[in-house]
Amino acid sequence: MPSSDSLAETDPDVADAITAERTRQESNLNMIASENHLSEAVIEAQGSVLTNKYAEGYPGSRYYGGCEHVDTIETLARDRATELFGADHANVQPHSGTQANMGVYFAILEPGDRILSLDLTHGGHLSHGHHVNFSGQLYEVEQYGVDPETGYVDYDELESMANDFEPALIVSGSSAYPREFDFDRIGEIADDVDAYHLADIAHVTGLVAAGVHANPVDVADFVTGSTHKSIRAGRGGMILTGEEYAEDIDSAIFPGAQGGPLMHNVAGKAVGFGEALQPEFTEYAERTVANAKALADVFIDRGLSLVSDGTDKHLVLVDFSESHPDLTGTDAEGLLDDVGITVNKNTVPGEERSPFVTSGIRVGTPALTTRGIDESTIEEIAHLMVDRLDNPDDETLADEIDAEVDRLADEHPIYDR
Ligand SMILES: *Cc1c(COP(=O)(O)O)cnc(C)c1O
Repeated sequence: MPSSDSLAETDPDVADAITAERTRQESNLNMIASENHLSEAVIEAQGSVLTNKYAEGYPGSRYYGGCEHVDTIETLARDRATELFGADHANVQPHSGTQANMGVYFAILEPGDRILSLDLTHGGHLSHGHHVNFSGQLYEVEQYGVDPETGYVDYDELESMANDFEPALIVSGSSAYPREFDFDRIGEIADDVDAYHLADIAHVTGLVAAGVHANPVDVADFVTGSTHKSIRAGRGGMILTGEEYAEDIDSAIFPGAQGGPLMHNVAGKAVGFGEALQPEFTEYAERTVANAKALADVFIDRGLSLVSDGTDKHLVLVDFSESHPDLTGTDAEGLLDDVGITVNKNTVPGEERSPFVTSGIRVGTPALTTRGIDESTIEEIAHLMVDRLDNPDDETLADEIDAEVDRLADEHPIYDR
């Protein structure tokens, strides 16, 4: 019989590290734009006996016996995804957002085909063709960027690049771009040059599901997303597409890119999508965006420069190169970490420092909004952040800010203790 002893009894080293991580999450204010806090129900589904099960294939057509219950679960996840996003077909098996993109590339491209996507330093993602990623190694890639003056995607440049480069695929979507993409315009450009359009909504999956962000499902050939960022469905990825590409996408994921699906994570997606179908989730998504706008307003009032001067969604990108020329993204990340506020350094358009140093930070609101933090509290937090960044050597002030952060974290618990 497998041991039924608790983790704390069988492996205190791992158990203690998990407990410490839980305490870290509770006691810090997490403003990493790509992270969130899942419900206990999603965590329970992910930590279940489903991890024991092989289920290569799809519901109703598996390569293993005993799949009747995992079929129920995957069907629920697919049906809820198609309902949430208004798509014909959903594949919920990708292990991550990167593997969702891999599935789309494998379905429609041959090695050497051309991809046009957003530059990483302008907010794009490794899986959109960066040379250190499989996508940059297998395909020929050119990248569009944002207008250095406005911080918005330069669609005219994108159009002329598409005409010259004649890509097979144009990718929209980003990790660190604070504005909505004009999916219609990119779709038209893709049509004109006879390219496919993939909209990678990784960061904004929850905002799209809730209807507070443009939904590309009707204008893009493929939509990919992460399921653990602004939607709280657990670590993983998904692909949405029309009936015409459904079979190609399914076979590109399995057997093309993956073996057995992680059925415990598919169950997490089913539960998280179910939560996102509830009216409270719309309120959550609206509050996430309102919080990001409130954060942007305080930062701007206090003299910080934001790429594109604000945000349409759940994150802002702070560019220190004018307001604090000596402050690097790494320094800022460390100064905020000292007082219990977690953010990540980020390159900014026109970046002059290395990606390990950078001149900016990305600051997001999904995780804080999950713990019930509202606009007035976000404003308070924004002031604490700027106080810290403006006075890096003031240790007395740092102690005061740290105490305020502790109080705010305490007042907004994530999980019942
Ligand atoms: C986060 C992200 C992904 C996927 O990331 P994974 O870590 O592989 O889940 C893909 N595209 C974009 C734009 C992202 O921000």
